[in-house]
Amino acid sequence: FSKENGRNGFSFYFEELNIDNERVITLDTEIRKAIENRDFTLYYQPKVNIEQNKIVGLEALVRWKNDKLGFVSPGEFIPYAEESGLIIPISEIILEKACEDLVLLRAVGYSKLTIAINISSIHFQQTNFLESIQKILEKENTSAQNFEIEVTERTVMNSDEETIRKLVRLKQLGFKLAIDDFGTGYSSLSYLVRFPLDYLKIDSSFIQHIVTLDDKQAVVDAIIQMAHRLNMEVIAEGVESVQQLNLLRKMGCDYIQGYYYSRPVPMDELIEFLQLWEYEHQGEIE
Ligand code: C2E
Ligand code: MG
Ligand code: MG
Ligand code: MG
Repeated sequence: FSKENGRNGFSFYFEELNIDNERVITLDTEIRKAIENRDFTLYYQPKVNIEQNKIVGLEALVRWKNDKLGFVSPGEFIPYAEESGLIIPISEIILEKACEDLVLLRAVGYSKLTIAINISSIHFQQTNFLESIQKILEKENTSAQNFEIEVTERTVMNSDEETIRKLVRLKQLGFKLAIDDFGTGYSSLSYLVRFPLDYLKIDSSFIQHIVTLDDKQAVVDAIIQMAHRLNMEVIAEGVESVQQLNLLRKMGCDYIQGYYYSRPVPMDELIEFLQLWEYEHQGEIE
């Protein structure tokens, strides 16, 4: 489509499409380079035990800054990486980096904090998934006890034998398991009963309006009761205000994550945050 076609809706549409195609091509090339150079970083967000006001763990969230594309959000490049299969090498790099960061945390005295890793369903479904992560832990000299694995409803929705077998095996290895973004996916509750899950993470879209909307409050309250009945602990995602925090505490929610305490931050800022948290006696650290 050349300029002669004029800027009618039709050619405009294709121009748009062209730009998108270009971005996809660049994305593909640049992701492959980034994998080659292990060019991804992990940011960390603390998980706080509400009752004890104690930091008990961290969630690792991948960040990628590229020379050509600038900062690309995981919301954009993870789906692309999943589609192209590149998620598997990326996922392995993420796990390796998390192991390296555990060493850094230990060196400054935080040896009991666990790191939660988001695992894509594409990686999880690989036949050699378990072997691939065990190999990394061995290589990096770390143990599963230091980690939680976050899977989404998409990973567990077809509750076939293979999925159950893998989750049980992960538990046996010592990983804690969390179901992420709860409430946004395929709302079959049967898997909650069948799978050995430790944590249920209520998606931020439910938390966002709990203070002002009664029906959201009712849903969150019901999710917390249900999770507890099923012996799971509850983590609320996306907590931004003290009002939300107080309401969640009243409802018996166990842990919170969110901007209220901290945005996801790079390791050096995280260590500063942890040290300040202790010095100012805001609370304890596991
Ligand atoms: P998620 O695992 O549910 O992560 C929570 C997202 O909420 C993160 O976005 C985090 O930065 C954001 N967040 C945390 N607290 C607040 C808050 O108080 N308010 C608001 N508005 N947002 C908050 P992020 O880092 O952009 O990640 C988005 C999604 O991308 C993640 O959702 C996860 O599904 C995926 N992702 C991120 N890192 C990884 C990774 O290392 N591996 C895989 N497979 N997926 C990842
Ligand atoms: Mg997560
Ligand atoms: Mg989530
Ligand atoms: Mg999410």
